[in-house]
Amino acid sequence: MVIKNNVVYGGPALNVPAHLSFGQYIIDKLTELSIDDTKIALVHGDSDEKISYKQLLHDMVSFATGLRRHGVTRGVIVAMCSENRLQYMVATMAAICCGATITTLNPQYTKDEAIHVLNISKPPILIASETVLKQNLALYKEVGCIKTYIQMNGQAVDSDIVPFNEVYVKVEPQGFDTGDVQGAIDTLYLLYSSGTTGLPKGVMLTHLNVLYAASNLMSDSLESRSRTCYLTVVPWYHAYGLMTTINNLINGKMIVYFPGFFPEKYLQAIEKYKVNVLFTVPPMMIFFAKSPLVEKYDMSSVKLAWCAAAPLSTDTIRQVMRRLPNCKGILQAYGMTETSTAATKDPEDDATIHKPGSGGPPLPGVSVKVVDIKTRKRLGPLETGEICIKGPVVMKGYLGNDAANRDIMDDEGFIKTGDIGYYDHDGYFFIVERIKELIKYKGHQVPPAAVEGVVLQHPAVAECGVVGAPDEEAGELPTAFVVVKPGQKLTERELLDFTNTKLSRASQLRGGVIFVNEIPKNPSGKILRRVLKQTLQKKIKNK
Ligand code: AMP
Repeated sequence: MVIKNNVVYGGPALNVPAHLSFGQYIIDKLTELSIDDTKIALVHGDSDEKISYKQLLHDMVSFATGLRRHGVTRGVIVAMCSENRLQYMVATMAAICCGATITTLNPQYTKDEAIHVLNISKPPILIASETVLKQNLALYKEVGCIKTYIQMNGQAVDSDIVPFNEVYVKVEPQGFDTGDVQGAIDTLYLLYSSGTTGLPKGVMLTHLNVLYAASNLMSDSLESRSRTCYLTVVPWYHAYGLMTTINNLINGKMIVYFPGFFPEKYLQAIEKYKVNVLFTVPPMMIFFAKSPLVEKYDMSSVKLAWCAAAPLSTDTIRQVMRRLPNCKGILQAYGMTETSTAATKDPEDDATIHKPGSGGPPLPGVSVKVVDIKTRKRLGPLETGEICIKGPVVMKGYLGNDAANRDIMDDEGFIKTGDIGYYDHDGYFFIVERIKELIKYKGHQVPPAAVEGVVLQHPAVAECGVVGAPDEEAGELPTAFVVVKPGQKLTERELLDFTNTKLSRASQLRGGVIFVNEIPKNPSGKILRRVLKQTLQKKIKNK
């Protein structure tokens, strides 16, 4: 790490394979890991359903061969929509091997949200779980772009759906050709993020971006080798869940996974599988800090816990450390979907150099600066401004959205994160607040513009502005300021009943509704969210 001219540079760039094909990399890694044919790759934390590396490699390549027969080749967009389950990983990794672009849909999207993202990606093929297809098939058919449906589990919900097992074409792994992937430009993942403003956009991450993010995990230290079992409940539709799972899997770690957070089962799994590393989001850390359940189980195997996606207080870190007796640190990483998740990260192998509350120094090859919001001048250590990131983890861009691509990039080729923070004299970053619109509820993205769009559909609403109210457990609770049309009446309950049916769980107005006479706006009509946030803070103080 070097600080020069007020830019913090991570260590030297890492090696990535010259072919730049993530599918080929997966095949090579799984082939190495299959030498021990008893080595377990993935385990469902509750049902104990397991798959070895050898079987995973076979299944993945056989499924990829079948996908080819359904037209999946380089650049074809394959949509995945499911709760975390084994077939999700097999199919995603198989599609990657075909050179496809993977787009992951949140299974909890409401109709409007699903239509919005499908109109961005227009996938011709969808691989989804029974629950998802039962709920959404009619909607997908209405959008019209999907021609092939593959169902991961259960009885096919419609006659034209291809059952998962019928896709497999049994082949030997070595013979599979991953095709002519151009990893520096081909989009591997198409994920959704609202970025600094507006509705969700399609974030294009290339094979090179992802290989780079994966190579950051390839530590061969004794410490790292001693951590063999990882536990995740982070959803695989989100960059954090998807990339930490696949990248650690190909790094030889056994991944215990859950389709959601079930506190007692989660703790049982830690004890049963002697889990060494946890992937968490801040609300789970609060659970570790406070829940009496934690003391009922043996937590001695836990050596590290990662926490990302939203801020985590140092108080919580201290409390959790007391309850995980052999844990060397609650490590944080900081980044965004647009930076292939982590751009800065706590050092993994040396707990003595952690700085609680920090997101760590930049990763190798990544440079990060902090700029004054008004002058855009680079700032020095301990000066607070907007964090901006450059390097091989930064996305190729937003799909088909030139305006957003122009907005997010600054004159020096750094992306503007919309996060406010500073770095210290050792180049460690600290996140102070978010100036972008984005609300984060339990680590989930909630773009206020999307929520406002729903509130405005109510016939009695004239104007509305949505911001996040601070909340210890969830991080933020979406809260609506609403102006009612003259002569109309509207109660908070009526509006919540209306919006709850149209908003996904994370986006619901848990912070409530505040009726006002006007929404503060700048001369060009942009909502002044900072003013709304200040009003909210005053209200909370006066409560
Ligand atoms: P996403 O694209 O969903 O991963 O969201 C990215 C945003 O989450 C960042 O721009 C931050 O606002 C927030 N975030 C991610 N990691 C952290 C962290 N370690 N501390 C504080 N905020 C974070």
